[in-house]
Amino acid sequence: MAELRPPIESGAPDPMPYMHPVMVKNYGKWAFHSHPKPGVLYHRAESGDEIWTVKAGTQRQMDHYTIRELADIADQYGDGFVRFTARSNIEYMVADGAKVEPLIKALNDKGYPIGGTANSVSMIAHTQGWLHCDIPGTDASGVVKALMDELYDDFVKCEMPNRVKMSTSCCEINCGGQADIAIIVQHTKPPKINHDLVANVCERPSVVARCPVAAIRPALVNGKPSLEVDEKKCICCGACFPPCPPMQINDPEHSKIAIWVGGKNSNARSKPTFHKLVAAGLPNNAPRWPEVAEVVKKILATYKADGKPWERMIDWIDRIGWPAFFDKTGLPFTKYHIDNWRGGRANLNASAHIRF
Ligand code: SF4
Ligand code: SF4
Repeated sequence: MAELRPPIESGAPDPMPYMHPVMVKNYGKWAFHSHPKPGVLYHRAESGDEIWTVKAGTQRQMDHYTIRELADIADQYGDGFVRFTARSNIEYMVADGAKVEPLIKALNDKGYPIGGTANSVSMIAHTQGWLHCDIPGTDASGVVKALMDELYDDFVKCEMPNRVKMSTSCCEINCGGQADIAIIVQHTKPPKINHDLVANVCERPSVVARCPVAAIRPALVNGKPSLEVDEKKCICCGACFPPCPPMQINDPEHSKIAIWVGGKNSNARSKPTFHKLVAAGLPNNAPRWPEVAEVVKKILATYKADGKPWERMIDWIDRIGWPAFFDKTGLPFTKYHIDNWRGGRANLNASAHIRF
């Protein structure tokens, strides 16, 4: 029999060789866990073994000097084992409770805050931004750094009614996902087409098929094969830009930022929910995005003051109602917040075919 083909070397690696030995030994056999203080978790195994996890915030995009510094702290003050969370926090695991405070001090001394657990505002999940992706309209990681600088106290203290998960997304594809508060780019004008480049750069049938409202069709412009957009139909989603960069949708003035609230992935206490738009048209104002920070802080302060213990953002809004949410936060409610678009029934691209 022919030899089996070896597995392809991609995907998440086996975590066991990198895991703290106490975690490997007690894998799946934990008796309970608790939360001794912000940023610290305690787990006890059925065997009686104990382990403490200390969570520190980072600046998200890290150079190798920072990573070496974090690794040195793990060797000197921890047990030499760390893991990065999906939100780019770093977690240190130690099997001796006496190591926790010196470890926290070492991290604080280097400027890393300890927090992000339980009912704090945890680090903001973000998409790749200008550093990695080819279609962003803003820099998600930059928004995160600027905002977390302002939300430092809410990260290191556990004073929110429940956990707060935030995300930022640098285009309307929103690969940042659902969140209690989501900050998402919002294009407000249809793409501008550079007809000289379309024929050389774009596979036109793919671009036509990509539009969710069938607003793009082939056209001959100045004797060259190109594309045209029915601007009355276009919903300015930006989906045509990735397969066809000459259909430029990013614009320094007309690409704005919108804020959505009330999404969550968890099914604890209430079902998962999609977030909903509450503020639109905020300027994409790098490098500190002050207008975005102001709205986010307003929403957080209102939730903190008005939410009952254990209410996630959407539970609080469901209890008080959306009109009260807008009243209490002082955000303007406009006709654009009403989702009355029914065009999707007639022309939204609902085919189950996969296209590339
Ligand atoms: S949100 Fe959009 S631009 Fe940003 S990383 Fe995801 S797909 Fe790329
Ligand atoms: S921006 Fe979206 S709706 Fe407008 S033409 Fe491009 S794909 Fe279609």
